[in-house]
Amino acid sequence: MPSLTEYKKKRKFDKSPEPGPKKKRTKTGRLFVVQKHRATQLHYDFRLEVDGVLKSWAVPKGPSLDPTVKRLAMQVEDHPVDYADFEGVIPAGEYGGGTVLVWDIGTYQPENTDDVGVALRKGEFKFSLNGKKLKGSWVLVRTRDRQWLLIKHRDYYTTNEDVTQIAPASILTRRTLAEIAEDEGGDVKKAAAGDPQTIPRRSGVKRRKKGQKQKVWPSS
Ligand code: MN
Repeated sequence: MPSLTEYKKKRKFDKSPEPGPKKKRTKTGRLFVVQKHRATQLHYDFRLEVDGVLKSWAVPKGPSLDPTVKRLAMQVEDHPVDYADFEGVIPAGEYGGGTVLVWDIGTYQPENTDDVGVALRKGEFKFSLNGKKLKGSWVLVRTRDRQWLLIKHRDYYTTNEDVTQIAPASILTRRTLAEIAEDEGGDVKKAAAGDPQTIPRRSGVKRRKKGQKQKVWPSS
């Protein structure tokens, strides 16, 4: 049963800006989000909405659109669905302290199953993603305990270009990690270490003008 007990234990909601621990579902019940997170180590939190919570995996190298690449994905505690559009700075010293960027968001569709919970318990789940950066068919395969592999299936969206380098910025606000840290009083230097050395031209990365309204993902 997906539960938020572990999430609640790890967080101090009076000290940290992250959303509270309520169970909730979106209209489709099939939200997916990838949050780029510069904590102690840079990683990408890959999350799928299942039965009112976000099942979550930390992917150190981020997703790859190359079907020959298997990306390690460590399952971590379920997160609240409200967490999906959280972007900002978790204070240093708190659990997950560092900068969080919403790297991609959209919906997913299970393949060959109606029951995502059962497929995940069995340790193999095939699905397709409908995001802005990640699309097409994927599989999550458990290798042991909390250790999984995230693999792209060969299809129209396959490429050997590195999507984390081509499209590094927030899908909600176009900001890089360093820009988010700067805007929200985080550690800019530490956050910048998670950005590509040079931001690619025509990557869609544009500095948000001061005072300009942030684009907000239609929440639920
Ligand atoms: Mn994380």
